[in-house]
Amino acid sequence: MGIVVQKYGGTSVGSLEKIRFVANKVASRYREGHDVAVVVSAMAGETDRLIRLAKDLSPTPDPREMDVLVSTGEQVSIALLAMALKDLGIPARSLLGFQIGIKTDDAFMKARILDIDTQVLRKIFEAKEVAVVAGFQGITEDMEITTLGRGGSDTSAVALAAVLGADVCEIYTDVDGVYTCDPNIYDKARRLDKISYDEMLEMASLGAKVLQTRSVEFAKKYNVPILVKSTFSDEGGTLTTQEDADMEKEVVSGITHDRNEAKITILGVQDKPGVAAMIFTPLAENNINVDMIIQNVSADGKLADLSFTVSKSDYERALAIVKGIADRLGCRDVVGDTSVAKLSIVGVGMRSHAGVASKMFSALSSVGINIQMISTSEIKISCVIDEKFIELGVRVLHDAFELDKSRGEA
Ligand code: ASP
Ligand code: MG
Repeated sequence: MGIVVQKYGGTSVGSLEKIRFVANKVASRYREGHDVAVVVSAMAGETDRLIRLAKDLSPTPDPREMDVLVSTGEQVSIALLAMALKDLGIPARSLLGFQIGIKTDDAFMKARILDIDTQVLRKIFEAKEVAVVAGFQGITEDMEITTLGRGGSDTSAVALAAVLGADVCEIYTDVDGVYTCDPNIYDKARRLDKISYDEMLEMASLGAKVLQTRSVEFAKKYNVPILVKSTFSDEGGTLTTQEDADMEKEVVSGITHDRNEAKITILGVQDKPGVAAMIFTPLAENNINVDMIIQNVSADGKLADLSFTVSKSDYERALAIVKGIADRLGCRDVVGDTSVAKLSIVGVGMRSHAGVASKMFSALSSVGINIQMISTSEIKISCVIDEKFIELGVRVLHDAFELDKSRGEA
């Protein structure tokens, strides 16, 4: 009998009835004779509620106190699930991050896991108890409570699976897997049975909300396959795992979109060494993540226009910082646009197929969608477009790459 690591998201433990349902699922795995560790998120909506409380109280809530606050959501759900398990006659123990030594760095609200001490968990397994672990949280060397960023319970679960040597990390959620595009946007979306770590990494960071990006990085690094399944149905599921030959047959595996993008353009920037550093260093120092960057140098080579994107939540801050620098550098103007979105295609098959970009651009132009920015990696192409065309863009690309047909058929 092996070690089973399961994670249940907020919607799966969103009510007492659902917690009882989850307890039964966990109980049946336990009764099969496995050592079971269950990672749980806060009850649906609870983390949002706590964040709202803080923001209503203070315009700039202290990050340390934020983590003390938001980590309480998981404390509630683990206690309730452990109680429900005990009612079923299953010995269970709820555990906060610090109790099982989930050590992190001290970046409050987006901490990284450094180490997990498996001793406590091993003892719990020896005592034949189910470990019900709070996701999303950890502890620093100085005993400060940290959280791992929104959606961080996925990462807690994958990290646990890695250190415990589980064969797979099971992630239970309100969808039955990863789809070729958001099924709410296009009914032709198809569930993928299997996807590579690299593809999932791109999809997660490009806006597919099924898994936290960090969890996929972790899974890839330690080669822990992730099985995403619906809590409430035994059907379906998507396995994120090592790449195999089948995966390369398909040029594009999925289409993602992300509305959380805003564009800032600096006009008339001097084209000389050091200017880009002067613009982007203060953004980095203020913890603002820059996504795409493009620079166009004018024909005479003296001035350039520089555009980049940030998340909508960072937009106001980024704009203020950039305006200050642009003034000092004597740039012509700074303009911003929050009505943009990013549309991307992802697939490991792109490495070995030509003409993927041109097909994407033709498909978008066929419905009159203008491309504002482009960025590529080995296995993805992203375009920034007007936000109001994003759903149309998803559908057009889904048709162009025939994603309704399954892998190998194309
Ligand atoms: N409760 C946290 C959140 O809502 C962590 C998680 O659900 O994974 O972001
Ligand atoms: Mg989640």
